[in-house]
Amino acid sequence: MTQAPLSIASSDTIDARLDLYIDGQWLPPEGRGYRHIIDPATGRLLAQAAEASVADAQRAIAAARRAFDEGPWRDTGARERTLLLQRIADAIAADAEPLARLESLNTGKTISESRNDMADIVATFRYFSALVATESGLANEAPAHVISRTLREPVGVCGLITPWNYPLLQAAWKIAPALGAGNTVVLKPSELTPLSTHRLTGLLAGIGLPAGVFNLLTGPGAVGAELARHRDVDLVSFTGGALAGASVMGAASGNFKKVALELGGKNPNIVFDDADFDTAVDYALNAAFFHAGQVCSAGSRLMLQDGVHDRFVDALVPRVRRIRLGNGLAEGTQMGPVQSAMQRRKVLSMVAAGVSEGALLRCGGKAPAGAAFENGFWLEPTVLTHVHAAMALASEEIFGPVLTVERFATESEAVRLANATPFGLAAAVWTRDLERANRVSRALRFGTVWANDYHPYFPEAPWGGYKASGIGRELGRGGLDEYTELKHSYINLAPRPLGWFGARTD
Ligand code: NAD
Repeated sequence: MTQAPLSIASSDTIDARLDLYIDGQWLPPEGRGYRHIIDPATGRLLAQAAEASVADAQRAIAAARRAFDEGPWRDTGARERTLLLQRIADAIAADAEPLARLESLNTGKTISESRNDMADIVATFRYFSALVATESGLANEAPAHVISRTLREPVGVCGLITPWNYPLLQAAWKIAPALGAGNTVVLKPSELTPLSTHRLTGLLAGIGLPAGVFNLLTGPGAVGAELARHRDVDLVSFTGGALAGASVMGAASGNFKKVALELGGKNPNIVFDDADFDTAVDYALNAAFFHAGQVCSAGSRLMLQDGVHDRFVDALVPRVRRIRLGNGLAEGTQMGPVQSAMQRRKVLSMVAAGVSEGALLRCGGKAPAGAAFENGFWLEPTVLTHVHAAMALASEEIFGPVLTVERFATESEAVRLANATPFGLAAAVWTRDLERANRVSRALRFGTVWANDYHPYFPEAPWGGYKASGIGRELGRGGLDEYTELKHSYINLAPRPLGWFGARTD
């Protein structure tokens, strides 16, 4: 059975049953169950996505195993894979607008954010294409009659598991290096947001990958758990929350498969008294409310030095109140809904717990009023001051449009408080003193530290967390290395008896 790439009509409604993609074929799930995919802005049904079972996962793993062990894929050269990644980048670039609309429909994020995501995704495939092209073995010190090489080889079958906040971008960060290094792939997107990944699979199916090299399983966490557990999977790369991440790590120990984890964050945005005030206020909004705060690196923890604290809050709060909420697909919308009813309940209960511990609610903290917000999962952008490092609000990931404000007196206190979280994904520091910017950047225990900026990342630079924010890195050189095994190959061209245990006597 074949299936055209998922399409959306001009009215942005999708009337489709989305099947699994296994071994080069679109297939219904074993149990014939389909999950309703909901538009978070309106609560309406968008599409129905196949609900894969553990048996479906096993079929996909077997296909990827066969394609890796027996198919021609393993013998493709770096040049061929370089060209393949370029073709994927071209296909996505040509399809960027429908993909961006799907992403906004399914996640609620604004169309301008989704367009940025698509540009980043194309850049990711192009970057890994170029990196694969320059990959080569390195010669070691060895006698002249020996060829000693360090080889990087594909790991094998890769189980890739992605979350709902950046469905296609997170998939691209994994697919591009995994295929570029010569692995086969079974991808499981979040059950809440499979639409753009499904369309990408349609594009991949159309460009001639050998059967079994890329497989798509839409479905619940149990399918991800099977990828983490199964002994024919050689590597599992997971992006998501800490709870599921810990379970992936435990399951992966069964065959000691390689594990890469990109987990949550609690990211301090530290503003010193001498910072460029207007720019820091502007970026504080972006850091916290981009994609309604549902960003692993969201700067949801604003830390203000005493001398600037009150003025900063006074400038910030009116601007937060003016953020224009609306459907992500409407041009001019500045913030969309949160992803699900469950996510909204979680955010509101964390805000309520913070207020009961003494935090002061300065704006938001509730669903917006008005007919436009009756359905869907809406939350006003929220600011809380008088937050202390000991509160859950300051140490646990909220993952919603909530900015908490703490205050500090000295540089060393700022560093100590900022580091006092189990997470270590991203942080930012704002100061005109570049020596201090450098000192604080070094002292912060986070995988990315921005100074006088927030949120930029590139395919060329590594992305990942210290501490409970994960294991391993995506993007950059390290993001390709994750998907390779290192081998030492030693070929003796002129073997002679060693005589170590004496000469031959017979
Ligand atoms: P989640 O952990 O609920 O789900 C992530 C994925 O894991 C989904 O596909 C889900 O079906 C699957 N899953 C659930 N249970 C599983 C299990 N036991 N075994 C294997 N797979 C399982 O996360 P989410 O709510 O979709 O995403 C939000 C989280 O992702 C946040 O914590 C956010 O910070 C994190 N995130 C991190 C990064 C990063 O780069 N570090 C990027 C994006 C999101």
